[in-house]
Amino acid sequence: MADLTGLTGGLEYPTLVYQPATSDNLPHETAHQWFYSLIGNDQARDPWLDEGLATWAEAAINGAPPFPNAPIPPDVANKIGEPMSFWDRFDEQRYFLGVYLQTYRALLSLGPRSQIDCALHLYVLHNAYQIARPDDLLNVLETSFPNTKQTLTNYGAHFQLASANRPRHGGEQETGRVATLAALSHQASTLSRDGVV
Ligand SMILES: [Zn+2]
Repeated sequence: MADLTGLTGGLEYPTLVYQPATSDNLPHETAHQWFYSLIGNDQARDPWLDEGLATWAEAAINGAPPFPNAPIPPDVANKIGEPMSFWDRFDEQRYFLGVYLQTYRALLSLGPRSQIDCALHLYVLHNAYQIARPDDLLNVLETSFPNTKQTLTNYGAHFQLASANRPRHGGEQETGRVATLAALSHQASTLSRDGVV
């Protein structure tokens, strides 16, 4: 991390964060080392994937996202899946509320936080070193929450394929892999909870 006192917010680059050292924004910027960096995404088309998941991770460290009880202005309500060409029309606050905070709330509305974290472990395992799309996030969340597509669509997310048509990375063979990854992921979360790692 490079301490840039005077910088408003932070800036993330692969393995590097520019950030005022005293800011509580540090977990968010560090989380970008996973969400957009290790697991890439089209940041112009799908900003909710990296900003929403970085905000989710930030809340895990800080206990809550920034402005947790803020109301969502009607003009940016239920638009999480919109591209930057849409968000560029709004000020930074509306962009934050519409994408960062609303994606956090959309995820939280699916179910228990620990189960969502488990699904996000799968997201990382499946999509590391690749460019993830909304359907990739949907795939892993659906393993725990069958009505993910409807819930996230209500928040304004866009998905490309119907669930039945979405490729499953190789059918039955993949089922075994998902089960193994789920077991590894569960094991990892158990270890972290116990403070072993
Ligand atoms: Zn961010």
